[in-house]
Amino acid sequence: MKVLLVEDEQKIAGFMSAGLKEQGFVVEHCDNGIDGYDRASAGSFDVIVLDIMLPGRDGLSILKSLRKSGNVTPIILLTARNELDDRIEGLSMGADDYLAKPFFVEELIARVMALLRRVSGERQNVLAVGELRLDRISREVTWYGQSVDLTGREFNLVEYLMRSPGRVLTRTQILEHVWDYDFDPSTNVVDVCIQRIRKKMASIGVDAGGESPIESVRGVGYRFRKLA
Ligand code: CA
Repeated sequence: MKVLLVEDEQKIAGFMSAGLKEQGFVVEHCDNGIDGYDRASAGSFDVIVLDIMLPGRDGLSILKSLRKSGNVTPIILLTARNELDDRIEGLSMGADDYLAKPFFVEELIARVMALLRRVSGERQNVLAVGELRLDRISREVTWYGQSVDLTGREFNLVEYLMRSPGRVLTRTQILEHVWDYDFDPSTNVVDVCIQRIRKKMASIGVDAGGESPIESVRGVGYRFRKLA
């Protein structure tokens, strides 16, 4: 799952980013409000962690514009202790939660997880396509009922493909979504990662008719098969 972190204080951003990555999240960080808004409105994030006091553009104004444009990505606001009015205003503008600074990174992670669980009514936490099941919260993947032991990156890649069965996703789209920095599009990290996933699924030894659910589309990218 992908988190956008909009926070100008490098130290705070650094520890939040490290803590979230440890939990398997892909984290993108913006250190000002202008870039923060651009990324938030352009990218597809599962959660946005948004500081209120930011250079360029403040968090409440970003929140307001996002909601006005129909963006419903869950947002956690970061506030200073004395910004009670901002918190109330933020919640009334459509923020999903807030966290007062200073906080422990464990608290942020707990809030992010709780928020993801809460929005599970709208966005399923268990994805199932054919015999492949993926639980976004427990981060477990099973194929024909057998557990597949994936790394965080492999998990995120499978999840990304599974969200749009039948749709071709380009290597660039996959890189942007699953890797948190800009790679040279000619890199083969995506292909290598797909090969590892296929190998792990094949090694379970179930009779899947010899077909991997992840199909290569020559010269373009990959597609998750629409399985019955
Ligand atoms: Ca700040």
